[in-house]
Amino acid sequence: MHCGLCPRDCGAERIGENRGFCGETAGLRIARAALHMWEEPCITGRGGSGTVFFSGCTLGCVFCQNASIASGGAGKEVSVGYLAEIFLRLQEEGAENINLVTGDHFVPQIVKGLQRGRDGGLCIPVVYNTSSYVKADTLRCLEGLVDIYLPDFKYYDSGRAYRYAKAKDYPLTAKEAIKEMVRQQGKPEFIGKNGESLDSRAYNALDDPEGKTMSRGTIVRHLLLPGGLEDGKRILSYLLDTYGETIYISIMNQYTPMGVFPEMPELNSRVTEEEYEALLEFAIDRGIENGFFQEGNTAEESFIPSFHGEGV
Ligand code: SF4
Repeated sequence: MHCGLCPRDCGAERIGENRGFCGETAGLRIARAALHMWEEPCITGRGGSGTVFFSGCTLGCVFCQNASIASGGAGKEVSVGYLAEIFLRLQEEGAENINLVTGDHFVPQIVKGLQRGRDGGLCIPVVYNTSSYVKADTLRCLEGLVDIYLPDFKYYDSGRAYRYAKAKDYPLTAKEAIKEMVRQQGKPEFIGKNGESLDSRAYNALDDPEGKTMSRGTIVRHLLLPGGLEDGKRILSYLLDTYGETIYISIMNQYTPMGVFPEMPELNSRVTEEEYEALLEFAIDRGIENGFFQEGNTAEESFIPSFHGEGV
């Protein structure tokens, strides 16, 4: 069968060693499955997020922060049954949620793995973490199985999307994908100290939000790139105008140059404090209520997990 799962529509026959643009055959591959403490506070909670990193990627940005798994070949082939066992093991280890990272090209297998996991007692929320280069139709297959969407919105300008990921259609695709995610999840909900349900206003008003976790909703991430301030402002304006308080927006400064880019010299440096502050001020001026930002210097490679097959 020719694959058309993602907007690349590359038509690869993912059998044998035949790989699509995403770099993957039909064999489900995972590079890491472990508790992760560096997500947004309401995703990490106290126990950590049970992240499962899938190998390959449909978008393939040149500056990828997880390049060893997205295009570097890291990962081990596993069965759908073993994937469900991994979910249950992470739950037993105290994970606040199961966090599926960049699995858009494995959605049919993920759906089966989640169904088996639920049948086996998986009861914590499921987070779907994506570049947003995914078809809305593909996301519809996840309805009822995913509780929280954690999409990126990387580029507003299609020229930038082409320059960095050869995906001119990214901005339109991401808008359609996020629209579908918000349709499925509606307004954000959180779990309070005594297990009670909190809406976003109650959550935002907490004196001590530490350890309070999201149970449902959408958090859109934007990783500010060096020189990307204007594009970032357009993304924030679009999200605030379109969704207001129906979503959270996470504004990130952790860009780390993962190589040398002679033809894209802007990617060889980190985001300056001034650039990041300017984007945060813009968001505040625009009246953002539901937001996360990063403090201090998070642009360290140590914040990027290692992918040596831990937990697989
Ligand atoms: S998921 Fe992979 S093989 Fe399928 S269309 Fe996208 S890039 Fe091609």
